[in-house]
Amino acid sequence: MKEYTINKEKCVGCGTCAAICPEGSEMEGDKAKIISSAKIEECGGEELCPYEAIEQINGVELEEDNDE
Ligand code: SF4
Repeated sequence: MKEYTINKEKCVGCGTCAAICPEGSEMEGDKAKIISSAKIEECGGEELCPYEAIEQINGVELEEDNDE
């Protein structure tokens, strides 16, 4: 499983990730934080964040197409 983190430099606090994936991340002040990497992955991983603030910790990049 992938581990995700919020790059606080890039996070603008738009709330998109928490709105789309409330079980995966939540807002903490004006930045998002990851609650569950598993849920983030289910919700689309890095693609959840339009500002590319959601990043993988382990750096492993798997190209997986989700069924849409
Ligand atoms: S979608 Fe990205 S920029 Fe917006 S709150 Fe979440 S991590 Fe921050």
